[in-house]
Order: sequence, then C-alpha cells, then structure tokens
Amino acid sequence: MKFIACTEGHSGKIEAFSLEMIAAARSLVHAGDEVVAFFAGAEAEAASSLFGAADRLIVARATKSDVIPAETYARLLRDVVAAESPGLVMVPYSANGLDVAADLAARTGWPLISYVNEIKRDGESLTVVAQMYGGKILAECSVPLPAILMINPGAFAEAAPGPVDSASVSTIDAEAVLAGGKVKMVDIDVPDYADVDLTKAERIVCVGRGIGDEASIELARNLATMLGAEIAGSRPVVDNGWLPKLRQVGKSGQKVKPKLYLALGVSGAPEHLEGMSQADLIIAVNTDPKAPIFNVAHYGATCDLFDLVANLSDRLRAGTGL
Ligand SMILES: Cc1cc2nc3c(=O)[nH]c(=O)nc-3n(C[C@H](O)[C@H](O)[C@H](O)COP(=O)(O)OP(=O)(O)OC[C@H]3O[C@@H](n4cnc5c(N)ncnc54)[C@H](O)[C@@H]3O)c2cc1C
Repeated sequence: MKFIACTEGHSGKIEAFSLEMIAAARSLVHAGDEVVAFFAGAEAEAASSLFGAADRLIVARATKSDVIPAETYARLLRDVVAAESPGLVMVPYSANGLDVAADLAARTGWPLISYVNEIKRDGESLTVVAQMYGGKILAECSVPLPAILMINPGAFAEAAPGPVDSASVSTIDAEAVLAGGKVKMVDIDVPDYADVDLTKAERIVCVGRGIGDEASIELARNLATMLGAEIAGSRPVVDNGWLPKLRQVGKSGQKVKPKLYLALGVSGAPEHLEGMSQADLIIAVNTDPKAPIFNVAHYGATCDLFDLVANLSDRLRAGTGL
C-alpha cells in the first residue's frame, strides 16, 4: 500500500509539519508498503535534501512562482493520487491543507477525517483519534481505506531530516497547471517586524481569552518583562484589539519556536497549536484540566492564571527565584 504525505514550503523555508506528515505515514507502513512524499513549489532542492525518511519524493516544481495556491496544489495532488492509487493521503491541517483535503475528498468520494492526533493501523483500516469542538472532545473512529486524514501540526514528532536518494525523486512541471489556474498569487505581504519578530523570540508569554479584558494584559506584560519574554496573544485577544496582529500566534498569526512558551488562559485550539507546538518548553496555565493545551504542554498548572501571575511576579520582584 502507498501512503502519500503532503508537504509544504515557500519563501526559502520548508514547513516543519512536512516532516511530521512523513513521520506519521512512516509509523503506519508494513513490509512492502511505501511512503511517498508530495511537494509542490519552488523549494524543490530543500525538499529533496530533507525528506529522506520517505521512500520516494514527487516534486511538482514551480520555477516562476514561490507560493502555490491551494487550487493548483489540489489539482497537482489529484493527478498524483490518480497515478499512484494510494491507500492513504495525509494532509497537514494548514491553510492550504484545508482546501486541498476537501477538494480531494469531494472528487474521490473517500472519507476525510480532520483534526487527527493519533493513528493506529488495523490491517486494511485505521483507527484514528480526532479532535472535535475545538479539542473539547476526542473522537475515536474506524476509517476504511482508501481515506484522507488531515493531521494536526505538532501531533507527530518530526521525521529525521536527510536527503532523498536522487533515483527516488520524480519531478513534474507545475508551471502549466499554475498558468491555467483561476487563483493567481499576486504578492506576499511580509509583515513589518519593526515592533517585534515573535519568530525570533526565545521566551514568549502568551495570553488567551482567559485573561478576560484588555486591562489585565498589563499583568502578563509585566511578568513577560521580568522573564525577559515577549508578550503574545491568541486570536481572540488580537481580534478584540488587545494586542497588535504581529503578536498573534497560530495558523493565521506567527509560527514560533521559543525556548519557553508560557500560555496563560489559552485553550489550545488546533489553530493555536499550529503556531507554537514546536516550542522547546511549553508551560500551560488553565482552570480547565481538560483544555487541549495540556496535550502539548510539558508542564501544566490547573489554576487561575491571575493567582499564578501574581505569585510568580511577587517572587521575581523579590528576587527569591522560583
Ligand atoms: C481559519 C482559522 C484560523 C485561526 N487562526 C488562529 C490563530 O492564528 N491563533 C489562534 O490563537 N487562534 C486561531 N483561530 C481561532 C481558534 O480556533 C480558537 O478560537 C482560539 O485559538 C481560541 O483562543 P483562546 O484559547 O484564547 O480562547 P478560548 O478557546 O476561549 O480559551 C480560553 C481558555 O482560558 C481558560 N480560562 C478562562 N479563565 C481562566 C483563568 N482565570 N485562569 C486560567 N485559565 C482560564 C479557559 O478554561 C479556556 O480554556 C483560528 C480559527 C480559524 C477557523
């Protein structure tokens, strides 16, 4: 059986979740099975130098366009799926993956499971654990193959990077499909990082909706200053105008990888985890012991964030250490 792992990258960078897709596929193979990585874009060399954990790599190479719109990616993937007849297609839960997986499911009629955290193979079918209602419920379901899974970034450890044997790389030309597409990439709007570049921050204190109101952000900001950290927020915090957009972490914000990520009152929705689950050390504070943020946290405190922030700030101020 073939397992297709969809990967992504642009602007000189391969998305970390690409290696997670390959690792997830690798965890399912039996003797005689094959993990086929699929990449579309201009970063063909980077893909070939990193995806060695796959048995084969199919690159849809673009030369004129750096970012492949989801419409084109879906079209290219559709052709690969038709040629390879895989048993499983694994798509990252990314902005691109959302459109791509839905397109493939609609056209093939194969079942599509989103927000997947765990996968177990039972012969010719799979048992998967998927999040529902923003992660408040975990659903275990049996999936007949062929199927499509949309995998949560951070759910699987990355496969070891390494070069793909050149004989195992096949290349298709993406330009003709790109030229025929209805969606054109006009420009990439790179944020002005004059204020802050969270992607380079070594320590981040991130506040979620649990912070309650704009005035309370000051408490977290003071704590961040004492810790030598940047302040960041989940999307509702930014949507409410309590922090600027450049300080949003997640799918539609910044993807960060600090040494310390202190999450205060953040539930840990998949869209938030996508931006921070690769942090070296994640400490989560939440009153709800079932909050999904605890699934990725290395340390967690089930308590009121205001108690913890006050206590920690007092200790830091007094210089008594932790
Ligand atoms: C296409 C798309 C893109 C998105 N992009 C992003 C993104 O980039 N970033 C992002 O963050 N979200 C994004 N979202 C939104 C995401 O789905 C969630 O809605 C959001 O992450 C929830 O933010 P939150 O955890 O702050 O709020 P909530 O989910 O409301 O969680 C608040 C948490 O605070 C806890 N809490 C409450 N009071 C306290 C207290 N006193 N002490 C301790 N804990 C407390 C609660 O138990 C709860 O777990 C996106 C959604 C979509 C559909």
